[in-house]
Amino acid sequence: MKASETRKRIYFDHSATTRVAPEVLEAMRPFFTESYGNSSSIHSFGREAKTALEDARKKVAKVLNADPAEIVFTSGGTESDNLAIKGVAMYKGKSKGHVITTAIEHHAILEPCEHLKRFGFEVTHIPVSPDGLVDPGAIEQAVRNDTVLMSVMTANNEIGTIQPIREIGKMAQSRSIPFHTDAVQAIGKMPIDVRADNIDLLSLSAHKFHGPKGVGVLYVRKGTKIEPIIEGGGQERGLRSSTVNVAGAVGLGKAAELAGHDLDGNCQRMMRLRDKMLRTVPEIVPNSHVNGHMTRRLVNNANFRFDFIEGEGLVLGLDFKGIATSTGSACSTGSLEPSHVLLALGLAHEQAHGSLRVTLGRENTEEEADYFLEVLPGVVSKLREISPFSSGRPIGPGQGGSCVQ
Ligand code: PLP
Repeated sequence: MKASETRKRIYFDHSATTRVAPEVLEAMRPFFTESYGNSSSIHSFGREAKTALEDARKKVAKVLNADPAEIVFTSGGTESDNLAIKGVAMYKGKSKGHVITTAIEHHAILEPCEHLKRFGFEVTHIPVSPDGLVDPGAIEQAVRNDTVLMSVMTANNEIGTIQPIREIGKMAQSRSIPFHTDAVQAIGKMPIDVRADNIDLLSLSAHKFHGPKGVGVLYVRKGTKIEPIIEGGGQERGLRSSTVNVAGAVGLGKAAELAGHDLDGNCQRMMRLRDKMLRTVPEIVPNSHVNGHMTRRLVNNANFRFDFIEGEGLVLGLDFKGIATSTGSACSTGSLEPSHVLLALGLAHEQAHGSLRVTLGRENTEEEADYFLEVLPGVVSKLREISPFSSGRPIGPGQGGSCVQ
């Protein structure tokens, strides 16, 4: 057995996915075994499932300061985003109108917006500052008489920047424009309050906060005009047909409850490690830089770029040392374009290719952060030794990847 196989592995890729919490697994287990009823059935098996489903709905509502009737279970963040964008913009068969979003949204927002464009909608993508922040004034200026929806993510999945959601929500409300936010990366790393933040629609995904994969939520404020994108048996108040994934919903509910426990304490711990990394890496690795705002970012997100090397090499070099991180790559589409988020910051292609994302979880320790800081300079310099780019020749387009989860 190789040394790398015996060493404890360190997981610093919590924005890609997280470990299912043991409490979540325990809560889900009965719904695969003895309580396997369909939550729409009227017999005791069905009623048992229905009770658990409604209990999960209450737990999610509590964390968001929403009403349980405003929670719609979906298959994940991507479906929630699709439902919000298409379901609101295309309400009652509309095929025209204007949507405002940002240049740094996840593809789960950008692609549904492209879909709308094919039907005749117009979409404005608001740019961001070099540190990744959206200016609410620029959003306000983009509003038109025919604006039917605004969608601005709460926190970015690559660089972690947190947007001024409350201000944007207030402005949207004053103009009676529905406001959606993709909060997939935010839950468990900052408080979310749909009422205080004037949010009409909000997307979540269980696997990003220690719940199972393949289940998500769309919060839909009462009175929001929206229609389903998946039609059938009329489950989830007609907004999301298909037999409900009861075990998944129960897991999501439990994970949401856990995310609310000691939120301050968990945030403080992750922030301390994040800040240590943000401060130390540029000191110990020559020609390295932080991507994104230094403070207005998720407590668990550190994103760097290293001149003259590619992120993929770095991820593999760190993996060899037992540390899991990510870069603007590993996309299922195998795209070779650099990350649209890093390009939106104004970075050149070659700079965007040399990025590394480190995303912490509530279980990571100081020792793990120290080990990362200990091995990183060696991995970078080894890559630079063999890099054809350290001579100053830039990395050209077509070398590297895109699509960070
Ligand atoms: N939105 C953001 C910001 C994300 O980071 C992700 C996942 O990476 C998604 C949406 C999609 O979520 P899911 O994997 O549950 O479809």
